[in-house]
Amino acid sequence: MNQWFQYRSNLRSQNTRGSAVDQVLFQGLTRACSIGEVGVTTSCNEPGCALCHVLRCDFVDGHHRKVGYWGRGIYTTTASNKADHFANNTSSQSRCGVVLLHKVLVGKRAELGYKDTNLRQPPIGYNSVDALTSDQGGVVKYSEVIVYRDDAILPWIMIVYNI
Ligand SMILES: [Zn+2]
Repeated sequence: MNQWFQYRSNLRSQNTRGSAVDQVLFQGLTRACSIGEVGVTTSCNEPGCALCHVLRCDFVDGHHRKVGYWGRGIYTTTASNKADHFANNTSSQSRCGVVLLHKVLVGKRAELGYKDTNLRQPPIGYNSVDALTSDQGGVVKYSEVIVYRDDAILPWIMIVYNI
């Protein structure tokens, strides 16, 4: 969390336009336990439970990253339905869905209307990728915002919903 605040300070000091450097965005992750079910409030230690890794800000295993149209990064979205799509439950007892809202340090966004699967960091001069949707002339149907630094995301709210 300290790293997140430090990075935010850095971005703010570089930001001469005065626009916000952070944005609240959804992320859907694989969940292998029952966290979020009635009475279950503590994170698990299942190796495959990406949700609990991220809740603990344990980024060592890279569960929060995926490989997509904009390379290997941390994929978030303004679209709750898209986050739900990636919020897979591997626990058969699960009766709910869980997505996270992060405070994401997007900084200066590169608005891209084409894929670049080789990316491992934002294009030079930018801090994040903001994928244009098909309505905007891009290649995705719903919003994707990609950051490449672990300290760019701060888990903020866990949303539990019936499925
Ligand atoms: Zn878990």
